[in-house]
Amino acid sequence: MDFSLGDRAEFFRDEVRNFLAEHLTTEVVERMHSTGTFDDKDFNVALAEAGLLAGAVPGYGDRDPIELYILFNELEKAGAPYDGLAVTMLVAGVVNAVGTDLHRDTVLPQLLSGRSSCCLGYSEPDYGSDLAAITTRAVRDGDEWIIDGQKMWTTMAHEAEWVILLTRTNPDVPKHKGLTMFLVPMDTPGIEVQPVPTMASERTNATFYDGVRVDDGCRLGEVDDGWAVMGIALAFERGVMGGTNPAVPLLRHVRSWAAKTPAPDGGTILNDPLMLERTARTAIANQVSQLLTLRAAWIAATGGLPGLEGSMAKLYATERYQQTVRWFQQMAGAEGLLSFGTDGAAADGWIDYDGRHSPVTTIYGGTTEINRNNVAERHLGLPRSR
Ligand SMILES: Cc1cc2nc3c(=O)[nH]c(=O)nc-3n(C[C@H](O)[C@H](O)[C@H](O)COP(=O)(O)OP(=O)(O)OC[C@H]3O[C@@H](n4cnc5c(N)ncnc54)[C@H](O)[C@@H]3O)c2cc1C
Repeated sequence: MDFSLGDRAEFFRDEVRNFLAEHLTTEVVERMHSTGTFDDKDFNVALAEAGLLAGAVPGYGDRDPIELYILFNELEKAGAPYDGLAVTMLVAGVVNAVGTDLHRDTVLPQLLSGRSSCCLGYSEPDYGSDLAAITTRAVRDGDEWIIDGQKMWTTMAHEAEWVILLTRTNPDVPKHKGLTMFLVPMDTPGIEVQPVPTMASERTNATFYDGVRVDDGCRLGEVDDGWAVMGIALAFERGVMGGTNPAVPLLRHVRSWAAKTPAPDGGTILNDPLMLERTARTAIANQVSQLLTLRAAWIAATGGLPGLEGSMAKLYATERYQQTVRWFQQMAGAEGLLSFGTDGAAADGWIDYDGRHSPVTTIYGGTTEINRNNVAERHLGLPRSR
């Protein structure tokens, strides 16, 4: 079995690293954490101009999904703002797969230029895991649709130009069969965005849709076939677009902090046996996460949909991330609870930040329990839980 990605991929990785060395400044990282907006349009445009986003869609430049995986893997490891960009690129992939020529000609180039971004309008106050039960209605009116409802956790809605919106178009059929997906401009009259702060400092939003009129040309996929469109979007979200190696920056910050922190009996705490064991276990988990993600990326690169493999990668990586940060928080003691910019904060506040951030990674994009069910049913052949 050959785990190397080949010369072309390694060359691309170098290109990305060189780009980050030049463009990922301390200001970009600080702005992301102080605003809670994990997206930076200037940074995105620079990535596009360097030709690094083209792997999101086959046929745009000579890039492929493995390169897209490498891009997000490097952005994540470097601690760059990539959440908004990942959503935008996954929507670009969906638009390419099921959009109309109009979508491909008008929306895709905007998304791939880094100038326009997209948010995900799936979850509602009462429906997250059970997405097929959502109640936001879209009712046909000639060549238009009228949309009414409320979405919850619409991260990046305050920045995005578009929302990919899951709606109910037929309430009289089984729930999976009456859904339709739309790609709606966020400046359409009737859309309201309200901020929702989170403990991880990331801002998300509640969004309201009141008599929102959209042309039928905004529809993505067939009427009542929105569940199939969701499947494509979720496979890429869980598998390829980062979020699957979050403990890499944590390990880097912890190691450099431990190497500077004196141990009671001389030397530094980096050589403490428990620290050595935990950093080694974290490095191993990071490598396993990387390989699981790589498998999902390879499946996407060879024309498949990494639904199950994406679930496995996300489940493993986010659970290990949460466990790892608890270990280091325990070892850092009270200083592990101090945040960025506070005197004495362990690892300059990164342990505290990752402690607040890690829980949500096991929730968004599909919870741990839902991914476990997915693996149990589709891989192990266990009976459906519901
Ligand atoms: C910070 C943040 C950002 C987010 N960003 C977005 C976004 O941009 N767009 C978007 O559409 N959504 C977004 N989400 C929503 C996210 O995808 C949902 O929160 C998630 O899918 C869980 O849904 P829920 O919150 O309704 O919890 P619920 O579905 O009510 O689940 C509650 C608990 O029950 C468990 N559970 C539910 N069903 C089952 C089952 N069948 N078997 C076993 N256990 C089960 C869950 O695992 C969980 O532990 C975001 C969420 C957060 C917190």
